[in-house]
Amino acid sequence: MTERIVVVAAALHDGDRLLAARRSAPPELAGRWELPGGKVEQGESPEQALVRELREELGVATQALERIPGEWPLRSPYVLCAWTARLLPHSPPPEPLQDHDALRWLTPDELWDVDWLDQDVEAVRALETFRSGG
Ligand code: C5P
Repeated sequence: MTERIVVVAAALHDGDRLLAARRSAPPELAGRWELPGGKVEQGESPEQALVRELREELGVATQALERIPGEWPLRSPYVLCAWTARLLPHSPPPEPLQDHDALRWLTPDELWDVDWLDQDVEAVRALETFRSGG
């Protein structure tokens, strides 16, 4: 059996607004929106990977907070897990430095206004449930 590799996605909030990032690559994902994140590397915890990926991709300083219950299959051997996260007080605002060409802070009303990647739809649904205390 192939090893399972976790891709961490960040539900980064500013108050009640959620950060969504539009992918610029690879071509089959370009134009679709995701919770920013990436693969956990060897020797890293998912929380460390989340902080590193958000620094590399968006130039921000963050802290991972809580795991959102659930796990969603990506192309084998990858599985998607999501964590809530916050910007640290000294962090610069996010910028699309790598992999993305647009960012949006979505209000709760706007949560479904973007074309989320298929797997991220599941993660965002789970996030809604989690945030509503369910
Ligand atoms: O960002 P990175 O290329 O490291 O992500 C690895 C893979 O995980 C991507 O190719 C993408 O298919 C998937 N992914 C995803 N949803 C996210 C983040 C990554 O489906 N929120």
